[in-house]
Amino acid sequence: MDVQQDEQPSEAQAAAPGTNETNETSAEPAQDGPFPAQSPLDGSALSPVTATPPSEIPELARKARAAQEAWSKKTARERASVIAPVKQRLLARAEEIADLLHHECGKPIEEAALAEVLPNADLVDYWTDSIEELLEGTTIELDPLAYPGKLGRIHKAPRGLVGLITPWNYPVAIPLRTIVPALLAGNAVLFKPSEVTPRAGALVASLFEGLLPDGLLALVQGGGDVGAAIVDEADVVVFTGSVATGRRVAVRCAERLIPCSLELGGKDAAIVMADAPVERTANGIVWGAFTNAGQNCASIERVYVDRSIAEKLVPKIVELTKKLEPGRDTAVLTTSRQCDIVRRHLAEAVASGAEVLAGGAPEEGSLAFAPTVVKLDHEDTPLLREETFGPLLPIVIVDGVEDAITRVNASTFGLTTSLWTRRVGAAHELARRLKTGVVTINNHGFTAAVAAAPWTGTGESGYGITNSPHALAELTRPQFVLEDRSRAARELWWYPYTPVLRKIAFAMARARGGAGLFGRIAAVFELVAALPKRLLGG
Ligand code: NAD
Repeated sequence: MDVQQDEQPSEAQAAAPGTNETNETSAEPAQDGPFPAQSPLDGSALSPVTATPPSEIPELARKARAAQEAWSKKTARERASVIAPVKQRLLARAEEIADLLHHECGKPIEEAALAEVLPNADLVDYWTDSIEELLEGTTIELDPLAYPGKLGRIHKAPRGLVGLITPWNYPVAIPLRTIVPALLAGNAVLFKPSEVTPRAGALVASLFEGLLPDGLLALVQGGGDVGAAIVDEADVVVFTGSVATGRRVAVRCAERLIPCSLELGGKDAAIVMADAPVERTANGIVWGAFTNAGQNCASIERVYVDRSIAEKLVPKIVELTKKLEPGRDTAVLTTSRQCDIVRRHLAEAVASGAEVLAGGAPEEGSLAFAPTVVKLDHEDTPLLREETFGPLLPIVIVDGVEDAITRVNASTFGLTTSLWTRRVGAAHELARRLKTGVVTINNHGFTAAVAAAPWTGTGESGYGITNSPHALAELTRPQFVLEDRSRAARELWWYPYTPVLRKIAFAMARARGGAGLFGRIAAVFELVAALPKRLLGG
């Protein structure tokens, strides 16, 4: 495995203008790339990271492909036994992982452990236990009259080199959701973590250290230029990130005629129906909106509350929100760029008449954005239309569930929606009318952590699928192998093309339904007469 972080820079890097040498003894850690040097949590220094020059990507790709050739020849069971120890490594390093995420992203320790460590242990179990069965080929039955002596098999072949490009908000969980099944399916992986969380990316790669053939999983560090270089080399790209970057990646993949999987942004809604259980609904919505300080593609960014329950529910949400302390219960925002977007959405909503019920923007320069609840009576503001990716919870009171469904489906995004109600049967019916990739009834968002459940979206949320056998379909390609056991000198449809063959073709069309009963019977007689002639070369 090629781990680039914390290595001494190559000669080329050392000579390159604008790059600094890594020096562990210096007080100010040197950076040679776009990596943050300080923790968003408390400004403390983060360890130095060395960027991978984009010019090195083709060689990393070549090595990965060479390693993949031998790796793909192992059985699925052999590959599973190589990767299974990752589970124990993850669990044994739970505190280290949570601490790193606390400092590099600003997540509460509890969230880091619960969202980024424990579900990944289940993920390793799920894929290593099921991969053999999931990769099993299937046999195709071919009609013995039309295709005598023929047998078809569909194999699931690895795609080859997977280019994996990931964001900063769940920098351990998101990469693992692809790395584990991609490797188990027999692929190599070029993995680029976000430049905002390169240390978490290096930690992910280190979980595989010493287990895999050299070069099979290559960690590359850097920003968009490095990501673009990966797209130029891969056989398939698995991308999670913003809509704007996803579009660029998709265009380049189209130019190269390679498939790509895109998991993009969200504007998730919670629909609260008249009969929702108030306590659970309020607790669930507050968690769904503010976990990771809302820096979650599936964060609740819109709540549509039925008017008849609003009087009970809204004060409860406000009460629970006011109890949360930014930095302790909710993450601090990971980047100042994100904080600016959240500020702008809040300011524009307030300017358009939104009422702030809890929280509000922090003082300039602080990333500790308080969980904030606002009430609006219109949707004509970025807070209700664009992805906020921050701790803002807008509530809109609606007259009935039909109104709510129309509003949810009007969004350009379509990741997840939650329905809150005691009438579970009715909720299942409503779920089918929602255009989002995931619907949860009386819960929100957490199913991204369930390895067996497909995580996917529609519209600007992208068309990628992570988790479940559906994700495996993106990491493999179907290969059809036909075996012919026929010993005949030629097939019916081979040369020569003769009047007898023409007669057979049209008789077949009539016999198979192209004529009425008498026509079909006549066609069968024609075939009985013509087929032996054809066998004799006619
Ligand atoms: P981003 O688009 O800025 O960056 C994502 C990755 O793309 C980074 O690694 C970045 O370096 C790389 N990149 C940038 N330019 C590139 C290029 N031209 N070619 C190839 N790679 C390039 O996104 P972000 O700010 O890191 O992440 C936040 C976004 O991710 C949000 O919109 C969020 O909703 C989304 N997200 C979606 C899911 C999901 O499952 N749908 C999960 C998590 C995050």
